[in-house]
Amino acid sequence: MNMLVKDIPTRLYIGGEWRDASDGGRFPVENPATGEIVAEVANGTVADAIAAVDAADAAFPSWAARSPRERSEILRKAFEMMIADKERFARLNTIENGKALPDARAETVYAAEFFRWFAEEGVRNRGEIGIAPASGARMIVHHKPAGIGVLVTPWNFPAAMGARKIAPALAAGCTVVVKPASDTPLTMLAMAALLENAGVPKGVVNVLPSRSSGKVVDAMLKDPRVRVISFTGSTEVGRKLLKSAADNIVTPAMELGGNAPFIVCKDADVDAAVDGAMIAKMRNIGEACTAANRFLVHDAVHDDFAGKLARRMGAMKIGNGLEEGVEVGSLVNAETRDKVIELVRDATAKGARILTGGNIPNSPGYFYPPTVLVDVPDNANLLKEEIFGPVAAIQRFTDEDDMIRRANATEYGLVAYLYTRDLQRGLRLSERLESGMVGLNRGIVSDPAAPFGGVKQSGLGREGSHEGLMEFLETQYIAVNW
Ligand code: NAP
Repeated sequence: MNMLVKDIPTRLYIGGEWRDASDGGRFPVENPATGEIVAEVANGTVADAIAAVDAADAAFPSWAARSPRERSEILRKAFEMMIADKERFARLNTIENGKALPDARAETVYAAEFFRWFAEEGVRNRGEIGIAPASGARMIVHHKPAGIGVLVTPWNFPAAMGARKIAPALAAGCTVVVKPASDTPLTMLAMAALLENAGVPKGVVNVLPSRSSGKVVDAMLKDPRVRVISFTGSTEVGRKLLKSAADNIVTPAMELGGNAPFIVCKDADVDAAVDGAMIAKMRNIGEACTAANRFLVHDAVHDDFAGKLARRMGAMKIGNGLEEGVEVGSLVNAETRDKVIELVRDATAKGARILTGGNIPNSPGYFYPPTVLVDVPDNANLLKEEIFGPVAAIQRFTDEDDMIRRANATEYGLVAYLYTRDLQRGLRLSERLESGMVGLNRGIVSDPAAPFGGVKQSGLGREGSHEGLMEFLETQYIAVNW
């Protein structure tokens, strides 16, 4: 067994204790670059899920009663410990997810930054006092911890998606049960150990890996003690969770799928747009909800942009993400790679041309090469679905209104990217884009200080910024006569 993985706890973390699943079950974790089983992790059951809610419930009153500063100091400590341990976290992430080390290192820092940001933001839980216009009564408005949060995270950012939920929940005074993705539970188990060492009391954070995700999450949502469901993952599962949450009116925070347009106007700085495209498309091998999914490039700069992007993407080094110098690691599993293969096959069958890539390496692991497609027809499936892989699908436009119509022609609305040298045009077009976030002359929008989230079927609520803290607070208004 890999030496690094050997030291990672592989049992459930409930009430500050590491324990086996109630039925003794375990499930394997694979390194997608090699196909090797690197660990067997306890497979949480419904009984374990309820035990985790019991632990979160028992810990809630004293955690909620701690001063914001005490909670904030613990989160600050978690930030420092994670930065100090960055290399180990990055390697672990690469082993279970397949991403290349530069992606894993960047993610580790991004994850740690959520602990720092919410350490700072947690002490800014402000209220208001006002006078009722008609009665003259005093109106006190303040925010209380919402209660127990169930946090469900995806495999594509095993560290960052956990930290982005745990940090605001803890800062607000909530206790949580985290259900990490089954493909990548190890990073979250390592994070639980780090949080314990940072001083998070028993029961405040509970971690429940489980292959029976539907059953365990459903059981927790049926428990009236659970007050928040914070989910990052596919729109399909988000929809199911919203339905389950409806029974007990549990507050939902949903970060769902995306289908980001990447627009290059005729006056864009093409080199800057290619730099931005390399990040928007290739960060995390394209396995990101924020990944540029559809490139809409003005006819006047199309060939220049497509040629330069194909050269840059075609030159990237593919391989086992643990090897230094590798820029493109393995996709997370066979299903994800098969989906990419099928989307490219569908697009080329309908007339798209491959400028680079498209050939699957004949080696173990779920690798797919960086691929650029041009002349992609409107009916290609990859314009409608998340590609979740290193494939750039490029289309031309000439008319600005038509471009905006096409950019918005999706049920998703997470992020859009836009390149132009004319800031006035950039802001005018940004306002017309139906997305929760816009990268204007930037290929990355994610930042702990920014409100991350989508509109339409990309989600509900925001993570990061002050808004992320508010997801875990309830507003209470007290009408007073004095
Ligand atoms: P997924 O299949 O929706 O799974 C996400 C999480 O939900 C996993 O922990 C999964 O557990 C769990 N889950 C699956 N079925 C469930 C059910 N019926 N009830 C309760 N939980 C269930 O998504 P994914 O494939 O891991 O991640 C990729 C998706 O996440 C993409 O659509 C991507 O766009 C989205 N994403 C969105 C954001 C954002 O902020 N908007 C960020 C990152 C990713 P198992 O692993 O055990 O199945």
